[in-house]
Amino acid sequence: MAQRLSPAILALILVAAACGSTGPSPSPAAASPSPTATPPIATPAPTLAAAPTPALELADLAQFHAAMRPEFAADVDGSPDLTRYAIDVAVTFNADGTATLAGREHVLYTNQQTVALPDIVFMLWPAAGGQYASRMDLGRVTVDGSEVRPQMENDGLTARIALPAPLAPGARAELSAEFTVKAFPWTGGSGIKRFGITGRVLLAPTFYPLIPRLVDGLWQTLPAPPGGDTTNSDSALYVWRVTAPADQVIVGSGSVVSATTTGQTQTQTIVTGPMRDLALAVGPLRLTSRTADGVTLNAYLLPEHADKASAILDVAAGQLRTLEALVGPYPFAELDLVGAGLCGGVCGIEYPGEVFIDAGSAMPPLPGEEGFGPSDQEELFQLLDITVHEVGHQWFYGLIGDDQLLQPWVDEAATSYTEVLYAEKTSGAAAARDVLRKFQDQLRASSDRELPVGLGIADYPSELEYGVIVYDKGALFFDALRRQLGDPTFFAFLHAYYERYRYGFASARGFQATAETACACDLSALFDLWVYKGGAVPAN
Ligand SMILES: [Zn+2]
Repeated sequence: MAQRLSPAILALILVAAACGSTGPSPSPAAASPSPTATPPIATPAPTLAAAPTPALELADLAQFHAAMRPEFAADVDGSPDLTRYAIDVAVTFNADGTATLAGREHVLYTNQQTVALPDIVFMLWPAAGGQYASRMDLGRVTVDGSEVRPQMENDGLTARIALPAPLAPGARAELSAEFTVKAFPWTGGSGIKRFGITGRVLLAPTFYPLIPRLVDGLWQTLPAPPGGDTTNSDSALYVWRVTAPADQVIVGSGSVVSATTTGQTQTQTIVTGPMRDLALAVGPLRLTSRTADGVTLNAYLLPEHADKASAILDVAAGQLRTLEALVGPYPFAELDLVGAGLCGGVCGIEYPGEVFIDAGSAMPPLPGEEGFGPSDQEELFQLLDITVHEVGHQWFYGLIGDDQLLQPWVDEAATSYTEVLYAEKTSGAAAARDVLRKFQDQLRASSDRELPVGLGIADYPSELEYGVIVYDKGALFFDALRRQLGDPTFFAFLHAYYERYRYGFASARGFQATAETACACDLSALFDLWVYKGGAVPAN
C-alpha cells in the first residue's frame, strides 16, 4: 500500500490498504463482514470434469528451475523438503457475472519439525469473507490415497485433517483435495477486496487449499482481519495448470512452461521457485514486457490503462535494481504487475511473483468523496508509488517472510522504507528526504504517535493508526536504525538479513539479532523505543 493523498482522505486510503497486515481479531464475526452485494449461489458449482492429462509431476525438482534465473536454479535443488503443490484449476466466467474456479491439488508434505505431527491443516482463504468476495467448498480429500473427512473450523476457513498415523520427523505425506471457489463482483464502498471480480478482471490469490505455518508446534489458523494481509505460509514449490476462456489473459505467479489453446479454451502450465503463495488473475488484460537485471517484468493492464505500462515498468525496473543492489538478488525469472481497480484510490496487494496495483478507479467513490478524487497526473504518481511499494514487498514478505498477522511491521515498515531507498537511488538524497518528510508529517498528525511499531493491527486503536504507526513510523524507525548504525553497517545488515532469511521467515527478534550482529552493538534501547514499548521519538 502506498499513501500519497491528502490527510482528508487518508482514512479512506488506510481502510483500503490491503498490503498491510492485522493481528488476530477478537472474533471471526468481527473480522469478516460478509461481502456486499453477494449474489446467492443458485446451483452447485461445477468440478473438473475429468482427470487432467497428463498428470502434473511433483517428484521432478528440476522442473522448477524454469522459474528461476539460471544463477539461482541451485536454490531449488537445495530445497528438497519444501512442500510441493501440483494444482489444476479451471476458470469459468458465468452469465450472472460471477466466476467459478474448480480445481484439485496434490500436495507432497514433508514434516520438517522435530516431533511427529498428528494432523495437517488446509486454510481455505476464499471462504474467509471480508476481503474475499468469494465462497469456497472443499471436496474429496485423501491422505496417502485414502479418503479422509476433514474437521471444519473457523466458520469453514480451516480444514483440519487427522492423519491415519502421526507423521514422523522427516517423513512425507501425500494429500489431495478437490475444491470449488465462487468469485463475486465487487462493489464500491465496502473497503478493499483482494479476491473477486473487479473491472472485468478476476483476481484470485490463494485460490487453493493452503497449508499454513506451524508455530511452536501449532498450525497458525488465525482468521482474516478486515483490512490487512491475511495469510502466513512457508515457501513451497508449485506446478500448476490453469484452464480459462481463450479470449482472456491468464497471469499467475511463476513462469509459464507450456501454453495451448483448443477451441474456446486455453491452458497454461506454470512453475514457481520457492514461493509462499500464488496469485492468479484472469481478464482482458494487455501485456507489456521489459527485461531488467535478467528478470522479465510484465505489466498486465486493461486496454484503457495501457498507456501507463511504460511508466510502471520504469519504476518497477528502478526498484528492482535498487533492492538488488542494497538488499539482495531477486532470484525468480519473472515478476508480474497486474493493474486492476482495487479500491478506487490508492492501494496495492503483494503476492510472490505477482502484485496487484490499483491502475484506475473501477469502483465508484465513497459517499461524500465524489468530486474529490485526484487528477490524472496525481493518479499516475500514486500508481507509481504503489508500484515501488509492491515491488519492494518481493523482498520483504515474498523472499523474507514474516508474520503478516502479528508482526506486520517486519515487512510493511521495511517496504515503506524501500520507498526512501528507491527515491535515493533513482533521484538523489533530496528526493529521499522528501519521502521521509511525508512519513514524518503523517506521524506528526497522529494523536497516538508514541505507540510502538511492533504491534499487531488489533492492538492499534484503528486501522488509521495502524497505517500511520506501522507504515510511516515504521519507515522512520528504519531511518533511525540507519543513522545509528551508519551506512556501511546498515547496508551490510540488510544484506546479511536477506541471506539469513531468504525463502524463510523472519521475526522481530531475528531482525534485531541480525542487526546487532552486524554492528556488534546492543540495540535494545532503540528497539524498545520504536518497536516494542513506544514513546516519544526524535523529530529529525
Ligand atoms: Zn505494503
